[in-house]
Amino acid sequence: MALPTIVVPKKLLKNKSALQGFFDNHQLERVNDAFCTVIGKVDVDIKLESEDKDRILLSGTVSCELELVCQRCLNSFSYPLEIGMQTMLVDEDSMINKKTSFDDWPILGDELNLLNLIQDEILLGLPTAPTCETACSENGIMPSNGEIQRSECNPFEVLRQLKKDINNT
Ligand SMILES: [Zn+2]
Repeated sequence: MALPTIVVPKKLLKNKSALQGFFDNHQLERVNDAFCTVIGKVDVDIKLESEDKDRILLSGTVSCELELVCQRCLNSFSYPLEIGMQTMLVDEDSMINKKTSFDDWPILGDELNLLNLIQDEILLGLPTAPTCETACSENGIMPSNGEIQRSECNPFEVLRQLKKDINNT
């Protein structure tokens, strides 16, 4: 089921409804840019619980597949993203001096821009310097232990090996 952009959490809570469905990739305008493209749909599965009269806890998962540009080799690669989210919806006044272990998300009035919230979750879940680890490590640029192997190679040893190869052909 396609999810609405705007929801009314208090109403959903009253009807014991969950937020289960999807957004289409083209809706995620803030996530899609030159270095990141959402592939297919973004699946959302969130339940709502009442904490107290001013606070509603949203918890569940947001999952999607992204196409990112590798910061090392500039090739694009597929990046599955699954975010476990726990967000507390709070009326702005009640936020003050109430520390929770959840991300607080102020809502103005009764409406929540669900699409914005989901986009924030994805943007926060993105790696800061995405690298296509498999392909890059195959090329020797980034071995799986994270250290740069190239600097450990003796360039003269490489030349010697090259010369040997040429002589053998
Ligand atoms: Zn790469």
